[in-house]
Amino acid sequence: MSSYSAPKKLWDFHGGIHPEQNKLQSTMEPSTQAYMPAKLILPLHQHIGAAAEPIVEVGERVLKGQKIASADGYVSAPVHAPTSGKVIDITAYPIPHPSGLSALSIVIETDGRDEWIEYKAEQDYTETNPSRLRNIIREAGVVGLGGAGFPSFIKLNPGSQKKIKTLILNGVECEPYITCDDMLMREDAQSIIAGIRIMRHALQAEECVIAIEDNKPQAYESICKAAEGTDGFRVVLVPTRYPQGSEKQLIQVITGKEVPSNGLAISIGVVCHNVSTAAAIYRAIHLGQPLVSRMVTITGAAVKRPRNLEVLFGTPIEALLQQCEVESDQIERLVMGGPMMGFALHDTSLPVIKTTNCIIAATHKELDLDQPEMPCIRCGACADVCPVKLLPQQLYWHSRAKEFDKAQEYDLFDCIECGCCSYVCPSNIPLVQFYRFAKGAIWTQEQELKKSGQARERHEFRQMRIEREKREREAKRAKKKAPKPKNAAAPKTPLADAAKMAEKMRDEAISQRDSAVDARKAEIQAAVARVQAKKKSTTPKTDKAVPTSPVTPAKGDADKKNGSSTANDSNQQVQ
Ligand code: SF4
Ligand code: SF4
Repeated sequence: MSSYSAPKKLWDFHGGIHPEQNKLQSTMEPSTQAYMPAKLILPLHQHIGAAAEPIVEVGERVLKGQKIASADGYVSAPVHAPTSGKVIDITAYPIPHPSGLSALSIVIETDGRDEWIEYKAEQDYTETNPSRLRNIIREAGVVGLGGAGFPSFIKLNPGSQKKIKTLILNGVECEPYITCDDMLMREDAQSIIAGIRIMRHALQAEECVIAIEDNKPQAYESICKAAEGTDGFRVVLVPTRYPQGSEKQLIQVITGKEVPSNGLAISIGVVCHNVSTAAAIYRAIHLGQPLVSRMVTITGAAVKRPRNLEVLFGTPIEALLQQCEVESDQIERLVMGGPMMGFALHDTSLPVIKTTNCIIAATHKELDLDQPEMPCIRCGACADVCPVKLLPQQLYWHSRAKEFDKAQEYDLFDCIECGCCSYVCPSNIPLVQFYRFAKGAIWTQEQELKKSGQARERHEFRQMRIEREKREREAKRAKKKAPKPKNAAAPKTPLADAAKMAEKMRDEAISQRDSAVDARKAEIQAAVARVQAKKKSTTPKTDKAVPTSPVTPAKGDADKKNGSSTANDSNQQVQ
């Protein structure tokens, strides 16, 4: 019996468009493996978050699946060698990004042996703790393969407080030209369903809905067949409309709930993952294999054999174009992603990375570049199709006038850059380009403010340190100059104790000597007194003075000369 409890009704979202699909061309033949190139260029920043840190050195031999760069921080993903070979360079290379900037990359010279590391699979994921599953997925470098590149383990961690009601698997692939998810669902539905089971276990989600647009009947059939008999799973066909594959719009269609502005889907008990991500999670858990390749659609009017290829990360785009027999002289523009949300590439030597889902080699005719841009006629068509219910015309005016505060007041950062407004604009105004410009300028301003704030903090801290050191130096100088207090306690050291002891002994010796002298004096005085007393008793009375011993005159002598006569006077005369 099915435990499914999600509502079977489908809801609607505002706006949207029905652009020409152009999907058939690349689904005419089965997907195949891309050729192994002589060299793979692996940027260490292929995902949302911090770039990975290299852990190999130039000259080192690496095996397929070996970790060559570690995740740096929580929101990051490691990078693995897509095949065996030798590391021949670690330096900055241009990366496929709208900025056109370069990033640190590891270059591997392939050896053609495609030799795997020894990998270990989880025997039974149902017996494995969800936390351990998330850790394996993180270490396997799995990120969202729908195009965003957000580390998947984070979206599989609802936190202890949150309960996940619905896990939605996004098989919508609404953007024209792109067919990689469609082909994967047709050809490898078993891996996708096995991956979804693991995700559901990791999230402990109550129910699971797999959403597929109704322009992919073969994919729908394959997924239904693979999911047969799985409790709590439902596969739904949703009407084809762009941008239904955008996360917030799809959640609204499936659950009827709106994800709040600036909020996350998890806040309303929903988690949404791409079907290709599910297959990568299956390989990480059941086979123990990290993410080293993905399906990429090679299409566009300049490609003679448009199709889907399983491509090793780091493969130069020119190798894929060659394999699909592109007519180079026909390429007017090379685009990574779809025609609505993709961006132009200026170099065919750029590598395929984890977020590369499609390469379009478009001709001049295909791009319809001859339509001139005209002034806005305030028709309001852009607002009618905006799936976020913004006012694109106002955003355009404020972005164009560089009134960035006002653009933000009109919720510029809620814009998902879907391009619906540009698509319908009768004046051919490249509206999304203005929004991207405004977002970039605001971001740059914020970074500069942040930097100047940090610089000010550093300056203030330095001034404080200089002041403190100056005060300490002055206090030391003042201490040295100050007179020592007389009764200042001597430092408590063994030497000080010894000096104190020596002083004490010397004082005692002096005291003993003085006592001996005093005793001797007393003895002499007593003897003199006895002699005088004897003389008095034996000598006849006369006025003639008795001669005494010669002595040094003392203060008492002078007193005696002045006529003073006491017993003490007699004693002094003896001395
Ligand atoms: S669709 Fe174009 S012309 Fe019409 S209001 Fe919007 S920006 Fe102006
Ligand atoms: S690009 Fe932005 S403003 Fe234009 S329709 Fe899409 S969400 Fe709305």
